[in-house]
Amino acid sequence: MTLTLLFAAGPGTAETYHAPLTEALHAEGLDARIVTEAVPEAVDYILYAPASPLQDFTPYTRTKAVLSLWAGVERIVANPTLTQPLARMVDPSLTRGMVEYVCGHGLRYHLGMDAHIHARPGAWEPVEPPLAPERRVGVMGLGALGRACAEALRDLGFAVSGWSARAKAIEGVTCHHGPDGLKTLLQGSEILVTLLPHTPETETIVNAGTLALLPQGACLINPGRGALIDDDALLAALDNGQIGHATLDVFRTEPLPEAHRYWHHPRVTITPHIAATTRAASAARVLAQNIARVETGQPLLHEVARARGY
Ligand code: NAP
Repeated sequence: MTLTLLFAAGPGTAETYHAPLTEALHAEGLDARIVTEAVPEAVDYILYAPASPLQDFTPYTRTKAVLSLWAGVERIVANPTLTQPLARMVDPSLTRGMVEYVCGHGLRYHLGMDAHIHARPGAWEPVEPPLAPERRVGVMGLGALGRACAEALRDLGFAVSGWSARAKAIEGVTCHHGPDGLKTLLQGSEILVTLLPHTPETETIVNAGTLALLPQGACLINPGRGALIDDDALLAALDNGQIGHATLDVFRTEPLPEAHRYWHHPRVTITPHIAATTRAASAARVLAQNIARVETGQPLLHEVARARGY
């Protein structure tokens, strides 16, 4: 039987995915048609991004799973009409992108690159930079992305600690978890990377109290979600030097409004939500593999735990 896959995403996305998805479905031996409109009762799978106008999942009674094109699912997970299983995007290209972003910006801080890029003529002040093993980096969130970043930073030689909800063991990474572990993680993070999902528990987890626990002058890299940060508290900490610099990829409002203080702050670097983008070629393979799993009676990969919210 031919499967019906409803592509429900922002304008142009279905066109971008059509060729790689067709190829990936073929490689999995799946007979499927990809559509952007369908009678809801005829849809087997929904490939979804939050820019889609589809918000009511009630009529999709035959749908076996909703497969998110995004890793972050905060804009769909609480939808009360969504009773179908939901999978988030975990994709090797997405992970590689995030690793490169975090290591790149981490090395920028570690090496103090800005001081040299913006050096005044004649400012010949050689200061021996510490080597990576002397630099303590903390990663909040040890999921698909946070763990890969922690391991890559470890492989670069950094002294890496991580923090997650549940206990973890990662070779060469000091792992903390739960509310008690957070204080220790923060106190030992000269560079802090936030790779948590946005949930009610993580909302403004970077606030005046937690920022104050970091070593003075610590740097922040946030490719997680904008809502993890209390923006006023971060700006105050940047103003008073508690935070030396922040690299922010995600914001409460995107695109970040032109008048926002972040744009104008000398110790903030803004990137336009590009830390890790979902690339159609590799994401299509992930989608097709997950559909093939369900069709052969195997459990869906990367299923979102609805109660946890990620
Ligand atoms: P994931 O695999 O679901 O991992 C989430 C991690 O956060 C897990 O380690 C989890 O702990 C931890 N966590 C969640 N709630 C927590 C809490 N209350 N206290 C402590 N730890 C908590 O997610 P992922 O694939 O790594 O992605 C992380 C986030 O990155 C996404 O949600 C998205 O917001 C963001 N993202 C951004 C971009 C970009 O381009 N900027 C791209 C992709 C994703 P456990 O392991 O114990 O469950």
